[in-house]
Amino acid sequence: MSLGYITRRFRFCASHRYFVSSWDEEQNRAVFGSRVSKYGHGHNYTLDVTLKGEVNPVTGMVMNLSEVKQIIGAVVNRFDHTFLNVDLPYFSEMQPTAENVSRVFWRLIEPDLPEGVFLHRVRLYTTESVFAEYFGIEDEAVFSKRFIFSATHRLHSDGLKDEENRKVYGKCNNKHGHGHNYEVIVSVHKPIDTVTGMTMPLKELETKVRDFLKAELQGKRLDMEVPYFSDKPATSENLIVFIRKGLEQKLGPFLYRIKLKETNNNFFETGELFDE
Ligand SMILES: [Zn+2]
Ligand SMILES: [Zn+2]
Repeated sequence: MSLGYITRRFRFCASHRYFVSSWDEEQNRAVFGSRVSKYGHGHNYTLDVTLKGEVNPVTGMVMNLSEVKQIIGAVVNRFDHTFLNVDLPYFSEMQPTAENVSRVFWRLIEPDLPEGVFLHRVRLYTTESVFAEYFGIEDEAVFSKRFIFSATHRLHSDGLKDEENRKVYGKCNNKHGHGHNYEVIVSVHKPIDTVTGMTMPLKELETKVRDFLKAELQGKRLDMEVPYFSDKPATSENLIVFIRKGLEQKLGPFLYRIKLKETNNNFFETGELFDE
């Protein structure tokens, strides 16, 4: 028998607000900004639930997808078109952040699964570029944001003759360079704060990553203006290592995963991959 993983996507719309009742209005505003509004604000949430289990040798399935849809869909339906803070009991004492909502989904879905099928990951997108993941590890969650920067490069190796460079890199060896809108998805792994419901506040993650990208990469010709590439080709395999090293300085041990998209057709990762 072999272990299989299946992911099913669900969507729901809901509103929520962030507000710590033991703080005054000013402190709430300072931490949560406009998200403290008592009327809430809304999202089109996307929920990806990954299940794992042995592949049944007779049916060839981990779990029948129509059963997945029925069981998890019933849970998701309870969240659809609600104001999470007031319509659902789970958020009376915890902030309905993406991290906490993912954790609540895990707790609600887990007992409903048939024998031999387990949750692997709950991933919740609040927007296309922001998402949280919960893996069932106590209060720990992963929080991710997608960033975009623009840069140019020429692929060229000093270890190869000109003719070999043209052969290996093709059009990418054009000596005048060419450019991309690179996308970087940066993930941090931390315990969920019991008061704010967040791993790392979005603003803090944004500031740290944007500072790095602006100073080191935005608008640059990588192979000529970034010293790191003076002795190595400015490929995405090398670029993601440069980004990882730079972000380790900013985010320390909380940095969990980086994905780098050069175009819509290719993306790159580095280090040990834990979950995919
Ligand atoms: Zn929100
Ligand atoms: Zn390129």
